Amino acid sequence: MKIEEYGNPSAETVLIQPVDEHDLSGIKIELEEIRNLTDTDFCLWALRIEDWNRDLSPWKAPAVFGNEDFGSGAEETLREILGLCDDRSRSYVIGGYSLAGLFALWAAWQTVVFDAVAAASPSVWFPGFADYIGDRMPGCDRIYLSLGDKEEKARNPVMATVGDRIRELYDDLGSKGTDRILEWNPGNHFKDPAIRSAKAFAWVLNRGGSKRVASKQISFPHGFSTRYGGVSSGIFTSLNLGMNRGDDAECVKENYKRFFRACGIESESFVCGRQVHGNNVMIVDEKAAKEPYGYKELFEADGYVTNTPGVPLVVFTADCIPLLLADEKNRVIASVHSGWRGTVQDIERQAVDKMQRLGAEKEYIKACIGPAIGKCCFEVGGEVIEAIKDLLNEDASDLYSVKENGKYMLDLKNVVKRCLLRSGVKEENIEIIDECTMCMPQKYWSHRYNGGERGSQAAVIMIPGEKTR
Ligand SMILES: [Zn+2]
Repeated sequence: MKIEEYGNPSAETVLIQPVDEHDLSGIKIELEEIRNLTDTDFCLWALRIEDWNRDLSPWKAPAVFGNEDFGSGAEETLREILGLCDDRSRSYVIGGYSLAGLFALWAAWQTVVFDAVAAASPSVWFPGFADYIGDRMPGCDRIYLSLGDKEEKARNPVMATVGDRIRELYDDLGSKGTDRILEWNPGNHFKDPAIRSAKAFAWVLNRGGSKRVASKQISFPHGFSTRYGGVSSGIFTSLNLGMNRGDDAECVKENYKRFFRACGIESESFVCGRQVHGNNVMIVDEKAAKEPYGYKELFEADGYVTNTPGVPLVVFTADCIPLLLADEKNRVIASVHSGWRGTVQDIERQAVDKMQRLGAEKEYIKACIGPAIGKCCFEVGGEVIEAIKDLLNEDASDLYSVKENGKYMLDLKNVVKRCLLRSGVKEENIEIIDECTMCMPQKYWSHRYNGGERGSQAAVIMIPGEKTR
């Protein structure tokens, strides 16, 4: 298999596309169109396929058009591709047009190596494909599908089923919680394959790189993790950063490496602890940083503050609020785990106070309230509302609503914002990431959505520069 490499050879994301001569003749157009549609850096490996119908078919099937039967070479082709995907710090995406799109989809049910599939006008009419997928989950969490709007009008009766098959696949992926799209392009199967392939890869690129959600105003290395782009499997698919939840320690370690890299952090050690829904915010330095995988003697705390460069501060969440704080002028940072219990114990004030102790000034503190359960989903009992009222000691009626069942829907993100304001952080320096973890279970771990069967998000922040001794 010959590989033609395009784009940035050292880009983190590698797009892998089996191609024939016709695809190669349009590759410049495809690359240009990908660049038009996304800012994400990428490398594209075009794999020249010798015998298209043999090398990309998962199993033998009689000829559907012309008189050339389909072979069963996909397994061998996939084995060769997987041999190329040996750098675990990179993100691999498989995609292609027509039978290569079908091959990419098939591969997603064979392996968890690929982060996403970009299938443009895939040959999902391929006999037996729907049965092959059945109830099984794909090994990746993002799948792009497209079809030309005239393709199902094909005269060939097998190929004419392509519309029904792709709609079924789209619905099936939805029921499995996969992040997916079905895009209808104008024209028949042979129209604009280069453009259509580019749209497929661009969607994946725009959807991906999403290991990390970032603040718009904090420039120190930092990020909030998502479920995308990790190596864990099963209930931990794919970016689990929780260490004591039963996931394989090597996978978690690799996930940290990937997530940290996306945040601009190279360190392998970091500060984290056993979170106990309290309000203890610890002032730490490099001595508290360790490689904590499998480490049992973690201290109990729900927040950390440091002015030491090169020390990443990590908190874990899966519905609770991850809060990152930074006074970049005085170079003091904090990361905080703020569930409702920590919030009503005013952990925000603890964090701001301790930052000031290390030289931070309130007017320079920027705060980012990360992805967490929103008012849309956060049902609580009256005792929580009473505790919030006690905490704020002011009218809080805009922060919750009463339900018919006597329960309440609580806007915890804005409670935290109110706490920050009361601690002296300026309103224009407080940012809220709107996304609700429970509404977006494909993108985020949600304790309420998944129950205990889940991984964890991490939020991290670090002061750049050399470690001081
Ligand atoms: Zn929600």
